[in-house]
Amino acid sequence: MVAFPTRGSRSFYAVTCPSCDSGYEQEIKPRYNSPDFLEEYRNEIRLVAFDMLVNHIVAEHTDLGAATSNTPEEL
Ligand SMILES: [Zn+2]
Repeated sequence: MVAFPTRGSRSFYAVTCPSCDSGYEQEIKPRYNSPDFLEEYRNEIRLVAFDMLVNHIVAEHTDLGAATSNTPEEL
């Protein structure tokens, strides 16, 4: 779901929604754009990417994302 495409000297992280195949892509800031940084922070970037995906799911797929309920009487 999370990919790290590169174009020329620029690096990106990209997430794809498993539900609707929407893609989100964000450039990794050039000052972080070194192989060492990517190796070291790959997991952190992945978490940020997943956060974007969760926001998308909550916003676009409320049937999937509405894990929290505002109606406790239904519990
Ligand atoms: Zn989606």
